[in-house]
Amino acid sequence: MAIDATQPYDDSNIFARILRGEIPSKTVYDDEHALAFHDINPQAPTHILVIPKGAYVSWDDFSARASEAEIAGFVRAVGKVARDLGLVAPGYRLLANVGRDSHQEVPHLHVHLFAGRPLGPMLA
Ligand code: 5GP
Repeated sequence: MAIDATQPYDDSNIFARILRGEIPSKTVYDDEHALAFHDINPQAPTHILVIPKGAYVSWDDFSARASEAEIAGFVRAVGKVARDLGLVAPGYRLLANVGRDSHQEVPHLHVHLFAGRPLGPMLA
């Protein structure tokens, strides 16, 4: 079910549980600011989710409240994941859903990284 991105952070969400190690994930990257793992229901040959370690509901919440160090660390981590996976030359797509109309389902900020085939034009 799509979430309301203005809701307070709920630390029972599935990605908070992955961060606490309560639920397994196929991790591809882990540092002080970010965790990246394979999406459980991939929409492309490579479909990675990159999440910040801090408790942020969405891109809106993160961009408003996170420290400069958290923002820099997270943005750098997203880029590093793509570079480490060799995705820069073939190309990749980043996407972050925010709230109900975007159909955000998990109320912890996540950036989708899609790659591994020609992705076609952006869909609005
Ligand atoms: P959203 O629609 O919120 O932008 O995307 C949520 C994504 O999380 C979906 O692509 C969905 O497949 C993925 N997802 C949901 N639950 C789990 C889970 O338990 N593990 C992993 N790895 N991905 C999940």
